[in-house]
Amino acid sequence: MNTILVVNCGSSSLKFALYALEAGDALRKLASGLVEGIGTEKGLFKAKGELGAAETALEKPTHLSGFGALKDYLEGAGVRGEQVLAVGHRVVQGGAVFSESVVLDDAKIDQVEELAAMAPLHNRAHALGMREATKAWPGAVQVAVFDTAFHATMPPKAYLFAMPYELYEKLALRKYGFHGTSHRFVSARAAEALGRPLGEIRMITAHLGNGCSLAAIKDGKVVDTTMGLTPLDGLMMGTRSGATDPSVFDYLERKLGWSASRTVQVMNKESGLLGISGLSQDMRTLVAARAEGHEGAKLAIEMFVYRLAKLISSFTIPLGGLDALVFTGGIGENSYVVRGEAMDLLAPLGLELDAEANAKAVGGAEGKISVGDDPVALVVPTDEELLIAKDALALARGARKE
Ligand code: ADP
Repeated sequence: MNTILVVNCGSSSLKFALYALEAGDALRKLASGLVEGIGTEKGLFKAKGELGAAETALEKPTHLSGFGALKDYLEGAGVRGEQVLAVGHRVVQGGAVFSESVVLDDAKIDQVEELAAMAPLHNRAHALGMREATKAWPGAVQVAVFDTAFHATMPPKAYLFAMPYELYEKLALRKYGFHGTSHRFVSARAAEALGRPLGEIRMITAHLGNGCSLAAIKDGKVVDTTMGLTPLDGLMMGTRSGATDPSVFDYLERKLGWSASRTVQVMNKESGLLGISGLSQDMRTLVAARAEGHEGAKLAIEMFVYRLAKLISSFTIPLGGLDALVFTGGIGENSYVVRGEAMDLLAPLGLELDAEANAKAVGGAEGKISVGDDPVALVVPTDEELLIAKDALALARGARKE
């Protein structure tokens, strides 16, 4: 049995999914899991799925020992190293260097690492993971799939900041956008569900998870997105503020003595739903708390939905209209409450909620949640790991033929 391994190496964790390659190049998930606590005294390897459940304590885990635990688990379940055809690595920042998935070599791994200036928490760990995975599975083709790549088609008017142009020329300071793999997956799936070519659908995809972003897709290409140089821009999120007047940096420095990095930290980790509610970043908790009269939860949801609807409507401008709105991510796939309240605000775009269908489209169900078809609103569960596995397989085939 041949397999494709998908890994997501973060600074403190390593997530994985293993797919079996079946007839007709179908991919079936065999197992998934993670190593947590990398860089700490005590870590844990956890796995579940067809290959069996496992939970192993790890002393002072590193990415290397994490991959070791994963290899042991796979071998224990009968998947030998040489049966791993390709390893697909999820990469947060591809910058202006990578506009599509690539087969990795030493030089490309160095380039991924150099982009760490734009994504310090992520790209360094990705590069480390790529080097360790190359040692762990020397016979596998190593492939990188970038969160930014699907957005590479944006025109300059969408991706430039209105700042001195030389900052863009010298430093590649611009909007890149993230969640690209998810936007790519759900836009393709939504077109399939609608039975029309993606190129003919003016579509907005709303990925609403802990991180939240929109993509405007026209002629099958992203023409604008809400996240920027980093995933902090755009929509309000679980713990991230989304777009905020940059003058708060100067104000907080003068008033509180906060450095820019402290303010960015607060904007990334202590803001959004958590910062406003003072209660939680979890939409489930907030919806329940609001029902009990929690004022912070009420305001946080109100702001989240308001900002979401406002940015969705602004994306009808680059599209010249709207044919389809697609919800995905933990909130987009499950929170019929948030979807319903956003759809109510979006009535001026001609969207009308089908309340019954909306209530049913939860827990991984796909479905249409608007009354009319023009425009139509859909819920499409995302599967970034599957798309990474597909890219890894396609590139591994190409690489092996050469
Ligand atoms: P990540 O971006 O980390 O992958 P997810 O896509 O899993 O995160 O989304 C996490 C968010 O989804 C949380 O705010 C969580 O509250 C929300 N969520 C998950 N399930 C539900 C649900 N049944 N109802 C409402 N919100 C949900």
